[in-house]
Amino acid sequence: MAIPAQAMPSQDPAVRRGNMSEVALGYSAEQAQVEAMRCLQCKNAPCVSGCPVGIRIPDFLKAAAAGRFDEAAKHLNDAASRAAAPELLGLRAHAYAGLARNAEEKGDAEAALRYYMSVGILFNDATLVPEALHKAATLLDKLGRGQEAQAMREELKARYPDSPLSRQGQTRTERREEKGNA
Ligand code: SF4
Repeated sequence: MAIPAQAMPSQDPAVRRGNMSEVALGYSAEQAQVEAMRCLQCKNAPCVSGCPVGIRIPDFLKAAAAGRFDEAAKHLNDAASRAAAPELLGLRAHAYAGLARNAEEKGDAEAALRYYMSVGILFNDATLVPEALHKAATLLDKLGRGQEAQAMREELKARYPDSPLSRQGQTRTERREEKGNA
């Protein structure tokens, strides 16, 4: 029997009406496993021949399906290192974003921060980069590096002024300023 596609968890409409956070909440580790199980492990793997750098996508998904996320992360690292050509920067950015989420899932805030910062600093993508800068700022706050978090939010605001995440950071800055003036 075919495994159904996993629905992406998202904020309840009544809750998201009152905030500017991302609507999609991301898969849990269990959902990521089930989603990866949908790979048919095709003998001729058209995904590999169609990939500009020949990444072993079925191997990546097999590892993720078995819950071997460290092994899956190695495939993402491989993808990032192979996608060095300028025309493949988008692929590299996605690989770094995947590594960041994997590190965050494992509770490795330092590694997650490094990858999110790589996405934020090295790339220019209106979807990936605001999220990466926002996540990096949140992690910096958690790590007690408030000034760097603030600088990250300023960068987000300067580079992507129309992003909802940018406006969220702005509101936080205004709250801090109000506190400071009180
Ligand atoms: S990811 Fe590749 S191997 Fe898996 S089902 Fe798709 S084409 Fe086949």
